[in-house]
Amino acid sequence: MTATPTSADVVEIDGFRGRLISADHADYDVARAVWNGAIDRRPRLIARCIGTADVIAAVRFAREHDLEIAIRGGGHNVAGTAVCDDGIVIDLSAMRGVRVDPAAHKAWVQGGALWGDVDHETQAHGLATTGGIVSHTGVAGLTLGGGVGWLMRKHGLTVDNLLAADVVTADGKRLRASEDEHPDLFWALRGGGGNFGVVTSFEFRLHSVGPTVLAGPILWDASDAAEVLRFYRDFVRDAPDELGTVVRFGTAPPLPVIPEDLHWRPVMLVGTCYAGPIEDGERVLRSLRAFRTPLLDLIGRTPYVGFQSALDSTVLHGWNYYWKSTHLPELRDDLIDVIAEHAFSCSSPRSYVAMFHLKGAVSRVSEGATAFGNRQASHAVTLDGVWRPGEEFGDGDTAWAREFFAALGQFREGVYVNFLAGDEDPGRVREAYGDSVYKRLADVKTTYDPDNVFHHNQNIRPGR
Ligand SMILES: Cc1cc2nc3c(=O)[nH]c(=O)nc-3n(C[C@H](O)[C@H](O)[C@H](O)COP(=O)(O)OP(=O)(O)OC[C@H]3O[C@@H](n4cnc5c(N)ncnc54)[C@H](O)[C@@H]3O)c2cc1C
Repeated sequence: MTATPTSADVVEIDGFRGRLISADHADYDVARAVWNGAIDRRPRLIARCIGTADVIAAVRFAREHDLEIAIRGGGHNVAGTAVCDDGIVIDLSAMRGVRVDPAAHKAWVQGGALWGDVDHETQAHGLATTGGIVSHTGVAGLTLGGGVGWLMRKHGLTVDNLLAADVVTADGKRLRASEDEHPDLFWALRGGGGNFGVVTSFEFRLHSVGPTVLAGPILWDASDAAEVLRFYRDFVRDAPDELGTVVRFGTAPPLPVIPEDLHWRPVMLVGTCYAGPIEDGERVLRSLRAFRTPLLDLIGRTPYVGFQSALDSTVLHGWNYYWKSTHLPELRDDLIDVIAEHAFSCSSPRSYVAMFHLKGAVSRVSEGATAFGNRQASHAVTLDGVWRPGEEFGDGDTAWAREFFAALGQFREGVYVNFLAGDEDPGRVREAYGDSVYKRLADVKTTYDPDNVFHHNQNIRPGR
């Protein structure tokens, strides 16, 4: 074993063609920054890969020198696990290629791509797969945790559309995982996060979507939230799978489509996207749009690819974020009262709550068929404290998220692993899966990463 390298002496890695960025490099601070500006970690080395061979070389180098490994896809995770202190970041951000086979309804996506890359290429053919609702989110981390989005009730989670993945495992070997090749690994990749290796390429199933869809938000005043939520509960219970909705509680963001007099006003917003014929969507959405008097109704015909980036500027890179999250069951009246009481008591005008409506195709895949847990939950919720550098809302809105989360205690039904923050109790990873899925994940971990080389994540330990 050679001595552990310092930043000054890492000038090359055998077989590596990408860029090596260490602390003395002019790009170091930009390269180590992730989406959440509250994360400030200083890796010894960032290995920006340009292909699978680089990933293999970087994994072998890290193992040889006993370096902590962080894997960076889009760098978007709120917990900041894409970057570590002192170790090596295997950075896939230069690997953003997307290839589409329109006839086969398939796409191959490299491990550092963002959802905007995928939507751009697939929508050129009127195709899409379920992806995140913010276009600068990474494909890799999102997919490996499960993948919720506007299309999931019709077309399933992102993992339900994953056909195969190329993975560099802890021993520096490249494997293909699919239903036919390493099926245990393929099962674990569909929800188990970045615990099993570095995914260099994903193969997805695509569906006909748009390219023009009926989509957009409706806004009501915050004081109407409890009443609108009760209506929303009954409305989504009977809604067709084509209708994806996400409720957002917070202030109206200062987007150009929102009239200035509404900017920063506390509102309950229901975002909608209808993944089916527009006329059907208009009929389905009629009663929601007519309920009470919305402050603003922006539902209309819109390009799906544009809609996918409509929220991007409300959650910019470099702002500070603190999240608490949980799954919730159908909204009982007492749960609605708790939500209405806490949702608007944060201090920062940028803090918000997002509540994704699940069910539909998500709940029709049997529990345990993939590693994504809690498929019967109704809603995935994040309570998101947001403050810009220099603003003083951090402590207050961190406390707000924690108190709100505690108030939801009796209603909680698991959690989505990708919404977990960095300071969670380790038991919450198990909560994301449930006992039987977690045990099976630990077995697969023992097979593919017995030394827990990939542990800078929401970790599943080998064994039990
Ligand atoms: C503003 C915002 C909006 C979001 N919206 C959604 C949404 O609509 N739907 C949804 O499902 N989630 C959403 N998320 C959560 C999102 O799924 C996670 O943040 C996810 O981790 C992002 O993926 P990434 O590649 O950017 O992660 P990164 O931060 O790059 O990585 C996080 C972890 O993922 C693993 N990982 C990343 N890349 C690889 C790889 N190539 N191979 C192996 N492991 C890898 C590693 O364990 C890494 O530590 C959102 C997050 C944010 C911040």
